[in-house]
Amino acid sequence: MDGNKLSFETEVIHGKYFSQEHQASLVPPLYQTSTFIFDTAEQGEKRFAGTEAGFIYSRLGNPTVKILEDKIASLENGEAALAFSSGMAAISAALIELTKTGDHILCSQGIYGCTFDLLRLLNEKYKIEYSFSQMNTKEELKNQIHTNTTCIYIETPINPTMMLVDLEMVASVASEMGIPVVVDNTFCSPYLQTPVSLGCEVVIHSATKYICGHGDVIAGLVVGKKDFIKKMSQTTQKDIGGVISPFDAWLLLRGLKTLPIRMDRHCENAKILYEFLKDHPKIQKIYYPGDDRHPGFPIMKKQMKKPGGMISFTIKGTKETAQAFMNQLKLIKLAVSLGDPETLIQHPASMTHAVIPIEERIKMGIEDTLLRLSVGLEAWEDIKADLEQALDNI
Ligand SMILES: *Cc1c(COP(=O)(O)O)cnc(C)c1O
Repeated sequence: MDGNKLSFETEVIHGKYFSQEHQASLVPPLYQTSTFIFDTAEQGEKRFAGTEAGFIYSRLGNPTVKILEDKIASLENGEAALAFSSGMAAISAALIELTKTGDHILCSQGIYGCTFDLLRLLNEKYKIEYSFSQMNTKEELKNQIHTNTTCIYIETPINPTMMLVDLEMVASVASEMGIPVVVDNTFCSPYLQTPVSLGCEVVIHSATKYICGHGDVIAGLVVGKKDFIKKMSQTTQKDIGGVISPFDAWLLLRGLKTLPIRMDRHCENAKILYEFLKDHPKIQKIYYPGDDRHPGFPIMKKQMKKPGGMISFTIKGTKETAQAFMNQLKLIKLAVSLGDPETLIQHPASMTHAVIPIEERIKMGIEDTLLRLSVGLEAWEDIKADLEQALDNI
């Protein structure tokens, strides 16, 4: 059953679930339990010693969670995975696992606001250094890798300006130097991009977004080599304890089944809305990886299946104009997060990226008039009509 690789669309539905192990239940059962009963004292001893396989306590592993972990590992072409209570729990556990005092993390030019805050925290408390790189060329990258660099941390497309990083190029430089590349793949999901196939070692998701796909769960995932994942499960996952609840894992398993068809619709809708927005007289700049004038366009063609469902743009005028536009929207919801059925819009400078100091924020291209649109699954005609009326009214 497992030998020949199924296509992605089939794998999200059938992959890594063996119904014969679960009373022939069609759908993976929800093991909503904190602990597991040992047959004998000796069995308990063996489970703790690791000499007998089996569940002990749900912070150390749970059957519903395990199905999700095996599935995401397979979808990302990785060896193993761990599920966490949030994207940030996953990111912090992975970065703490990969660094110690005095080490350096080299990051892509833009990263998620709370990831930036986490780096500041690690720096203040544990003297872990970090810096940013455009990662445009091999030479630039090599010059920015220090002798104490133990991790390269990348988001691509970069939130919210959609700049892209050539993962194959970065992975080739990093592997020569023995440095693991960690990719936050939240914006793409494994349907659009699989960093492991491009030579990157670790993949992280805020599963809250496209993987869940229904806006009702906060969760995170880390995919990596077996040894790395095993080590994390025994340290930064077990002892920091940011584990996912079995019910949330169950909801993610449900959401995953429709990931490919949802992503296709998100991408289709985004392409149509980009065409409408790009020449609109009230819009100044537009950031969308499927724009052939976008500097990342060739990289998108190379490493992504489709350009994704996210569009950012600046409104002509001031911060107040951008806010007035948001306030005019009726169907589109004013909310952070992304990858939901509902189209969402947010103002990065005052919301998701407000914690980033203004100089850094401007370097990242996050102006006061920038808005980020997570294109939903509604009929594109209705989303377009809402955008149109709001633009007309400012
Ligand atoms: C949302 C997000 C995170 C954080 O994930 P949570 O699930 O909210 O903790 C990290 N990276 C990216 C790119 C995100 O969009």
